[in-house]
Amino acid sequence: MFTLSGFMMQLIRKLSILADAAKYDASCASSGSKRAGTRDGIGNVNGMGICHSYAPDGRCISLLKILLTNYCIYDCQYCVNRVTSDTPRARFSVDEVVKLTLDFYRRNYIEGLFLSSGIIQDANYTMEQLIAVARSLREEHQYHGYIHLKTIPGADPRLIDEAGRLADRLSVNIELPTDDDLRELAPDKKRPQIEQSMTEIGLRIIESKEDSAKGMKARFAPAGQSTQMIVGATPTTDRAILDTSTHLYTRQRLKRVYYSAFSPIPHADARLPSAAPPMVREHRLYQADWLIRFYGFNARELTTPEVPNLDGQFDPKLAWALRHPHLFPLDVNRASREELLRIPGLGVRNVNRLLQVRKHHQLRLADLKRLRLAWNKAQWFLVAVDHHPGIREVGPELFAPEPDARPVQRSLFD
Ligand code: SF4
Repeated sequence: MFTLSGFMMQLIRKLSILADAAKYDASCASSGSKRAGTRDGIGNVNGMGICHSYAPDGRCISLLKILLTNYCIYDCQYCVNRVTSDTPRARFSVDEVVKLTLDFYRRNYIEGLFLSSGIIQDANYTMEQLIAVARSLREEHQYHGYIHLKTIPGADPRLIDEAGRLADRLSVNIELPTDDDLRELAPDKKRPQIEQSMTEIGLRIIESKEDSAKGMKARFAPAGQSTQMIVGATPTTDRAILDTSTHLYTRQRLKRVYYSAFSPIPHADARLPSAAPPMVREHRLYQADWLIRFYGFNARELTTPEVPNLDGQFDPKLAWALRHPHLFPLDVNRASREELLRIPGLGVRNVNRLLQVRKHHQLRLADLKRLRLAWNKAQWFLVAVDHHPGIREVGPELFAPEPDARPVQRSLFD
C-alpha cells in the first residue's frame, strides 16, 4: 500500500521517464481542430497552439506529451525504447494518464494530450489501452480538450474507428523514408502495414466529412492525420525523403509530415551514425515541404539527380532559382500567380497582395517595398515599372554571407 507521497513520487518518476521517452516524436501539433466546451464539462480546443513540451532541439511542442509505456517488444535500432535497450522502464495505468491530464489541464499547464506507447503484447492490445485513456477522458470526465493519439500499425480497423471518434488527430509514424531503411533498422515494422493503417484513417476522415456535409452527426479525427519521418539515421537522400512525403500527401492525404533529425542514442547499433545530422537539414526539409504544399513546387524540382540533397547554404526556393537563371527576372506586372510564387523572397501573402494591388495600377518599387518581402533576395529576380536588376548575372555570390560573418546554428543546450 502506497502512502500518498510514495504514490506521488512513483507518479513523478514515471512521468519523468515517459515524458522523456516521448520527446523523440515530433508528429504533433494542436492546430487545425475546433471542439467547443460545454457547461458541465471542461476544456475546449480553439485551434491555438499550446506549449510545455520540448523536442530535443528546443522546439516548443504544446501538449502533455507522454508514452503510456516505454516497454516495447520491437527492436527498432534508432529507438531508445527498443526491447534490447537498457533504458529505465515505466508504465502508466490508464487512470494515471487520465488523472495527470485532468490535473494539468485544470492548472492550465497544458491544453491537450499527445499519447503514444511502446508496443505491449501486440498492436491491438496497445491500441485498446490508448483508446481507454481517450474514452475515459471524453465519456467519464467530459474532457473537451485536444487529444492526439498515436495509432499502432496493424491495429484492427474497429479500434482505429473508435480512436478517430475520440481523438482530434491520429498519427501513424512512417518512421524511415524507404522500405529498405525499415528493413535495415526496424525489421518488425512493415511499410504496407503502416500504409494500410493510414489508408483506414484516411477513408474514415473522408466518410465523416461526407456525412457532416449531409447534415449527419459525424466526427472522425477532425484535425486529420500526420506522421513522423526520422531523417539522418540512414544515408537516404533528401530527394528520396521528399518523394515519400509527396506520396503521403497525395495518396494518403496526410495533413502533415514531420521531419525529426535522428538523435544518437546510447549503445547504438554500428549501422547508425554516431552524430546527428546538421540541424539545418531538418529546417531545409520543412522549407521544401512548405514549397510543395503551398507554392506549387514538385518535389523533384527541389533537388537534382546529381545533387540529391537540399542546399545547406541557400533556402530551397533560392537554390532552385539560382539553377534556373534563364527564367528571371519576372515582371511583377505581368507574371502569373504561379510564376510570382517562384520568386525568391516572395511569400504567398506577398503574392496575393501584389495581385490585388496591380488590379488598380502598375506596380512600382514603392509598392514592393511596402510589402514585407525579403527584398535582399527578391530584388534580383523581379522587374517593376521603375526597377530592373540590370544585366548582371544572378549568382550565388550575391547571396553568400561573408565567410567570417556566416551564422552558425548553435544548440540551445550547449
Ligand atoms: S515500435 Fe520501435 S520506434 Fe516504437 S517504441 Fe517500439 S522500438 Fe521504439
